Amino acid sequence: MTTQPDRYAVFGHPVGHSLSPRIHGWFAAQTGEAMVYTAIEAPLEGFEAAVRAFFADGGRGANVTVPFKAEASALADCRDPAAERAAAANTLRVEADGRIAAFNTDGIGLVRDLEGRLACRLEGATVVMLGAGGAAAGVIEPLLARGVGRLVIGNRSPARAVELADRFADLGPVAAESMAGLPPADILINATAASLDGSVPELAPGLVGSQTLAYDMVYAAQPTAFLLRCAELGARRTVDGLGMLVEQAAEAFRLWRGVLPDTAPVFARLRPSSTAE
Ligand code: NDP
Repeated sequence: MTTQPDRYAVFGHPVGHSLSPRIHGWFAAQTGEAMVYTAIEAPLEGFEAAVRAFFADGGRGANVTVPFKAEASALADCRDPAAERAAAANTLRVEADGRIAAFNTDGIGLVRDLEGRLACRLEGATVVMLGAGGAAAGVIEPLLARGVGRLVIGNRSPARAVELADRFADLGPVAAESMAGLPPADILINATAASLDGSVPELAPGLVGSQTLAYDMVYAAQPTAFLLRCAELGARRTVDGLGMLVEQAAEAFRLWRGVLPDTAPVFARLRPSSTAE
């Protein structure tokens, strides 16, 4: 009798653009894991039903993307500390006893991309983050755990930045600031969705300088408007979120399969020009 490969999927709406099936396909080939990974577009009002049907049909795990990360965390039977505090999960795993466990690997993905591929020192750094949505919430704890000097959050709707900073304040030096009052950044992270419609969040005078690494969580074939603006303002380096995507996927793969794949060849396949970055 032949054994069927374990099944995984990414759920989103829309999800057709997702690179996750290719990334996990390459991870599986690299590590020799017997699995298949597909993309499933859940109806906006039907995420929980869709993911439960997938698991009832034998699915072993799932990635979850916009706009379902909060629902993914809420439907799980248990959560890792990152998903618990962020109230958002990007990874689900069916446990041996059938319970659904939720994880948030976005923060690990960002930190690994910054410290690993980009050789960026987080310890003691002034990190400024624009945005206070699910993606921002998911990366605060890992950034604080790396010993950043301070993490300052600015958001178009200021009350959301204040709420987020308050939620994590017991973990380290995190504070909210008005967009106009943000300090000079060693690392400036755009965790807003502004780049999806080609807009640029307000950038305070002095926020970007020659010491700044500007990082846009959004990834695209061409530099985003945010990254172009930061380059104009003299940023020493501008980087998009493709590396974060690959790293968060690798951590999800490890949670499911117990083996951490090598991300460098996968990143290079997705962006053959990366040696010039
Ligand atoms: P949310 O919808 O939860 O939050 C959106 C955030 O962006 C809010 O803070 C919102 O501000 C802000 N925003 C939206 N439009 C604008 C604008 N035009 N100008 C200024 N601020 C704006 O989204 P997520 O947090 O889940 O995702 C944010 C981005 O991060 C997405 O584009 C997503 O693609 C990307 N991402 C990338 C990942 C990767 O692996 N590379 C992983 C996760 C996310 P307000 O509160 O005022 O509405």
